[in-house]
Amino acid sequence: MGYDAIVIGAGPAGTTASRLLAEWGHRVALVHRPKARPVNVAESLPPSVRTAFHLAGIQEQVDGAGFARSAGNAAWWGTAEPRVETYPPPRWGYHVRRADFDRLLCDLAVARGVCLLESAPPASAPFVLDCSGRTGVLARRGFRRTSGYPRTMAIGAVWRKPGGLPYAGLTLVEAFSGGWAWSVPVDEDRRYVSVMIDARRAADYRAQLATTEAFRKMLDGAVIEGNIRACDATPYTCSRFAGSGILVVGDAASFLDPLSSFGVKKAITSAWMAAVAVHTALKDGSRAPLAIAYFEERERQAYEDARRHTARYCGQVAETLPHPFWSRRASSEPGFYAPAGLTAQLELLRTAAEIRLRRSEQIGVEKRPAVEGNEVVERPKLVAPQLPPGLEFVNGVEISRLLELSERHTQLPDLWRAYNSGNEEVDLPNFLGALCLLLAKDVLTLR
Ligand SMILES: Cc1cc2nc3c(=O)[nH]c(=O)nc-3n(C[C@H](O)[C@H](O)[C@H](O)COP(=O)(O)OP(=O)(O)OC[C@H]3O[C@@H](n4cnc5c(N)ncnc54)[C@H](O)[C@@H]3O)c2cc1C
Repeated sequence: MGYDAIVIGAGPAGTTASRLLAEWGHRVALVHRPKARPVNVAESLPPSVRTAFHLAGIQEQVDGAGFARSAGNAAWWGTAEPRVETYPPPRWGYHVRRADFDRLLCDLAVARGVCLLESAPPASAPFVLDCSGRTGVLARRGFRRTSGYPRTMAIGAVWRKPGGLPYAGLTLVEAFSGGWAWSVPVDEDRRYVSVMIDARRAADYRAQLATTEAFRKMLDGAVIEGNIRACDATPYTCSRFAGSGILVVGDAASFLDPLSSFGVKKAITSAWMAAVAVHTALKDGSRAPLAIAYFEERERQAYEDARRHTARYCGQVAETLPHPFWSRRASSEPGFYAPAGLTAQLELLRTAAEIRLRRSEQIGVEKRPAVEGNEVVERPKLVAPQLPPGLEFVNGVEISRLLELSERHTQLPDLWRAYNSGNEEVDLPNFLGALCLLLAKDVLTLR
């Protein structure tokens, strides 16, 4: 049987991309390598993952599967007291056991007609999507590049305390001198607890946890259940994300520092965009270069956005914990993203009774790629010469869309809500960050 696309790897990216392509009428093989022993890893998915679920058309199924809802997070981020952020209804995140989550997504793909195989099919296909995660079956053949990022190791285990562990329903994170600790509830009595440290440090899990404050107290009287697992958690990216009918997708394409908590969201969004690009190319070969180039551009920008974000967080800790772990990960922002006057713009926005934004007269209209439904098309978009050519997103905010809406609202919350109602949802700090950058670059002015 001939396939239109072969997808390698049945994690969140592979199951999503293959299911969408099958839904859109294509013949798809998903090559799955079952794990010898399922691992009981729990992960935390922030509320913004729901935009990715929505794009991928699985919101209802995920909600129906009964995964625990995340109430928020508590962070000891260079502070003695935790900063607790709870998610106000109707926003919520999830705590998922990855084995259960991946099985659900795989079942949904098979139900849509995806052909699940345990080895690559004998014949090739016009498109092959590498969704094999860090393994990068094809990504390592000339796509991935060395990142220069300090090597990070994650070591984790499930902890159980009869009678329950504190901070029910919250994801916990604590920075310590040589790394950070992270915990996701598995159930009332159990938490998955990991530490991220420099890969060259001696990897004594318990000794690392003993140097924490809040985690040490929380785990007093708790016992480890099962094995302690270590894995590489060093971020990386690719120099190109597609070529010769191959697309590298999800973690195969780039890996975000787990600090971002956006890995699954990025994998699903990346899979959706890859499926849209491949669907466009299969439907109309003349649009293939446009669609694939747009996929590549979005992959590149998603990684760069997340990398800057993480560097900022590490910089906060580096101010109070003078350890190379933090200073080496807290690279300064590239000049373009940290122009003079950014903080002043934020202050102006915060204190203004109303905002009257005006677009620069230099802003023009150009035909640019965009997604309409499940296809990449060219459509007119607002572009500003003050910004680097091709820059579509800042902090996950789509610039042309923000420019379109900017003059229509005089209250910041209204502008933010209007943006979120038609786009992938972004949180307020990221939205403000993008807006301030446009103000500092005179793309917008505040009157
Ligand atoms: C320590 C740690 C903590 C994390 N915590 C979080 C978190 O809390 N929240 C979050 O959102 N993200 C988190 N992440 C990131 C998240 O796990 C990944 O971003 C996400 O799993 C990426 O999905 P994917 O489908 O691209 O890759 P994967 O989930 O890695 O899936 C790849 C699949 O390909 C399969 N495969 C590999 N080789 C082959 C082959 N040769 N043939 C066939 N199949 C193959 C693998 O078995 C796997 O099923 C964390 C990551 C780490 C390392």
